[in-house]
Amino acid sequence: MEFKSLPLSPSLLQVVAELGFEKLTPIQAQSIPLLLKGKDVIGQSKTGSGKTAAFGLPILNQLEKRLGSELPRRRETRALILCPTRELCTQVARELRKLGRRVAGLQVLILSGGQPIFPQLQALEKGAHIAVGTPGRVLDHLTRGTLDLSNATTVVLDEADRMLDMGFQEDMERILRALPKTRQLALFSATFPRTIEAMSRNYQKEPVRVTIEEPEERTPDIRQIFYETAAETKLKGVLWLLRQHPSESAIIFCNFKASVTELARTLREGGLSAGELHGDLEQADRDRVMAKFRNQSTRILVATDVAARGIDVADLDLVINYELPAQPEVYVHRIGRTGRAGKRGLAISLGTSREKSKLERIESLTGSPLSRKTLAPLANAEIDTLSQGARNDARMETLYISGGRKDKLRPGDILGALTGEAGGLQGSDIGKIEIHDRFAYVAVAKSVARVALTRLRNGRIKGRKFRIEPVA
Ligand code: ADP
Ligand code: MG
Repeated sequence: MEFKSLPLSPSLLQVVAELGFEKLTPIQAQSIPLLLKGKDVIGQSKTGSGKTAAFGLPILNQLEKRLGSELPRRRETRALILCPTRELCTQVARELRKLGRRVAGLQVLILSGGQPIFPQLQALEKGAHIAVGTPGRVLDHLTRGTLDLSNATTVVLDEADRMLDMGFQEDMERILRALPKTRQLALFSATFPRTIEAMSRNYQKEPVRVTIEEPEERTPDIRQIFYETAAETKLKGVLWLLRQHPSESAIIFCNFKASVTELARTLREGGLSAGELHGDLEQADRDRVMAKFRNQSTRILVATDVAARGIDVADLDLVINYELPAQPEVYVHRIGRTGRAGKRGLAISLGTSREKSKLERIESLTGSPLSRKTLAPLANAEIDTLSQGARNDARMETLYISGGRKDKLRPGDILGALTGEAGGLQGSDIGKIEIHDRFAYVAVAKSVARVALTRLRNGRIKGRKFRIEPVA
């Protein structure tokens, strides 16, 4: 599909031609016509597929059409775009300015956190047609009364999944509730967790969903291997398996709590960062273990089926059945947690020769045979070298902050304290932020964990001192 076939203004068509955009990308072809008609859209496509122009061109078109020659003088904020980090705000604003370079008088303003507020206040005095900001800072301006959104007609939540990951849900909802009733809302994201669907239901009107799937995304692709082992080889054998099949994020299922505890201890002794989850844990411990797994501070989670219920982790690349379940349906459910989002998954099962019948029942349910291998007994020396090699370095580290929702702490405050001003960290070094009632967790890249800890300990968050601890 060509840009010329769209009812876009001549100046916009000229710019896309100058930029050398020949054809619309699939997400643009499907969402631009809908957005031009004023529809609410929920759009999903992978990174680099041109989502910014997909919402940017309709916004710019609308501005030109509504304001016409008055545009340079009427600097009312007509569109608001929320992005998760300062860097992404900058990228989106840059792309909008590029696309809008022939829209005379266009003003695009960045309102991102971790930046001094004074220049933003000055710029807001003068007004801007499009505001691009992080949820925390935008809410801050709304509360101060420095950002007027009463003329806003379009709102975009860009990288909505990432914003939810970073704990911005409450801030985003407060912003959405502060907007005029009749406004267009577009949600763009690379993935669609359930939390986004809920947001769409609550805030969009008759949303049209546009999903650009990669061809291989349709059927889960899971490689299944069965390793026959002697009972006494099993425990240490897992170290060998993890070495043979390196993974970013793995769950190991056990049938019993005792196996969970024993296996998790063995893995930790072998130098791996392993979390454990079973029915006897206190809720607080469960939350901590899950938070660390979700934010990639722990790469391996050892769990019973019951404890793992309701865990929604998108990017598991490996599932291990340390013990085969008695019911084949449980097997299918367990391995279904890998091989999602178009990625190839791997499911490894361990069992003794006496468990052949369990295996056969699984194969008859799934209709596909597992490839069979044998896990040979390992010598002690071998196990030692294995543990060294398997030494797992999780990408992230979790920091505990002794303040939470009840202390009016918001994700933007933590992000601001970490990334703000001189010597601040990059937004890309910050992972998930989870705010609880009385405390918060923030994941930071391991390489900057020390700097982050010192920075938070020496500095203030929202003008206050909190206790900061690494989470073991
Ligand atoms: P996304 O938000 O989906 O990750 P971006 O909006 O950042 O992707 O776009 C990625 C790059 O593709 C940008 O450099 C943009 O200028 C370019 N681009 C966007 N649309 C087109 C198009 N139709 N043809 C060629 N390049 C495009
Ligand atoms: Mg983008």
